[in-house]
Amino acid sequence: MLEEAVRSGVVEKLSKIVGSENVSTNKADLYIHSYDMTQAEPSWPEILVLAKSVEEVQAVVKLANEEKVPVTPFVAGGNVGGVAIPLEGGIILDLKRMDKILEINEVDMYALVEPGVTFGHMKAYLEENHPDLMYTYAFSPPTTGVITNSLLQGLDNLSFRYGAASNWVQGLEVVLGTGEIVRVGSCAVSDSWHAVVPMPELTGLFLGWQGTTGIITKMSVALWPKVDHTASLNFQCANFDDTYRLIRALARSRVPDDVISTSFPLSKVSMRAMRGEKANIYPAPEKKEGEPELTVSVEVSGNTEEELQARIHVIEKIVSEDLKDINITIPTAMPSGRAGFPMQALPVLSGGGGLTWVGCYGPLSRWAETCEKGCQIQDKYDITRSAYTRVLNEGHFVGLRWMCPFDKGDEETVRRIKAMADEQTDMVVKMGFVPYKTPVWCVRRLEKEGSPEWLKLHRNVKNLLDPNNILNPGRWGKPAE
Ligand SMILES: Cc1cc2nc3c(=O)[nH]c(=O)nc-3n(C[C@H](O)[C@H](O)[C@H](O)COP(=O)(O)OP(=O)(O)OC[C@H]3O[C@@H](n4cnc5c(N)ncnc54)[C@H](O)[C@@H]3O)c2cc1C
Repeated sequence: MLEEAVRSGVVEKLSKIVGSENVSTNKADLYIHSYDMTQAEPSWPEILVLAKSVEEVQAVVKLANEEKVPVTPFVAGGNVGGVAIPLEGGIILDLKRMDKILEINEVDMYALVEPGVTFGHMKAYLEENHPDLMYTYAFSPPTTGVITNSLLQGLDNLSFRYGAASNWVQGLEVVLGTGEIVRVGSCAVSDSWHAVVPMPELTGLFLGWQGTTGIITKMSVALWPKVDHTASLNFQCANFDDTYRLIRALARSRVPDDVISTSFPLSKVSMRAMRGEKANIYPAPEKKEGEPELTVSVEVSGNTEEELQARIHVIEKIVSEDLKDINITIPTAMPSGRAGFPMQALPVLSGGGGLTWVGCYGPLSRWAETCEKGCQIQDKYDITRSAYTRVLNEGHFVGLRWMCPFDKGDEETVRRIKAMADEQTDMVVKMGFVPYKTPVWCVRRLEKEGSPEWLKLHRNVKNLLDPNNILNPGRWGKPAE
């Protein structure tokens, strides 16, 4: 914590940088930055700053570096990993006011955006101004950031084709812990933000680091041509092995745009929420005779109706011929519900303020066993089975999480959720999966798994880019002192 004299001096200087109306030490303003939806312990920032430009971000970071004040960048706090909670106090640097879409390049298909640009902004802007292009969307609320999702390596509705969201970064502008501004990608040497190759690949110094090595002030992200003909197919599977065979076969076909598997009981919780009821996951409901274990929803698209129907036909053929020994009914193709936010996010937020998951990326080959083990751990704690899987990179790996909306006010639920998450984390790491949007306790857990050389490299990168350890300190690269 800062000494009072230091704090008031810093507040005065910050007010000169961003204007006093954009600096606050008011407890009511700080409170919402002290916690998130997960079970992570709260930790208060001391000063809230709302920056509007890269120059302001740079001046704030330079000041913080001189005064050795921690700075945690923030957009909406919707990461579901506690990773924007300022572990060591200091400044919370809210970037929502930096919300400009600076360029949409129709031909090279990229968008150059500031950190406050959200999925909601992007979708609305493209639909109004560039209806032939689309971006990829997460299940998160439309108020969450495009840049934050990419820097956290998120999983979105085009991830089946293109992998984690960090894969569609085409260039970055970053303020380092020293206050220097650097650009990486083609934009470093050209006025075009079209790609990060062919040069030494430096975006990795910032992607996956949770803002601990630099504050991204501009990002170029890939866009894609919008397809006009889309459909959804929703399968129901009796068990984990059948589901595995179905998603593996779908991945090998390379036909879908998106493949998601969800525990059937989670759909029931969501239905309750849709009816406006409280959707808690504890205690777990009884499994009814004949109920499926998992559902698999598949998004398909085509440039023409004929192409779409041909793709659907490939899927139907896989199920009726290659998988004929298992009992999967071929569903009727329905209109696609892709990126229909905000509806898709709301059900999981109505459980009583809490939302958490052990989320991880891992090999498809070990998915069925890992997914089942995670569900069995949920049974042990009488928590509703809530596995959610997205197939990434055409089956090269999967994103897997057990989504738990929970009542934050109910101590017993919180105790169970914490114990269950610990057990699931141990299990997934043993199975060779790696937790994503890594909460700080998982970072420390992973640091024990990696080699000393791997750890040393992380520490060196952090020291190089943020020598005074002011950026979101205590997480990747350096534990709390
Ligand atoms: C209901 C729900 C469903 C979700 N579903 C998905 C999903 O399907 N797929 C998915 O990928 N995600 C999902 N998420 C998570 C969420 O979409 C992303 O992680 C999100 O985009 C980041 O949230 P945010 O903008 O609120 O960032 P924040 O939480 O504010 O910040 C995230 C991290 O980035 C750091 N940071 C912020 N700005 C910068 C910057 N400019 N430079 C460097 N570091 C910075 C912060 O310090 C923090 O560590 C879901 C979230 C919710 C609530």
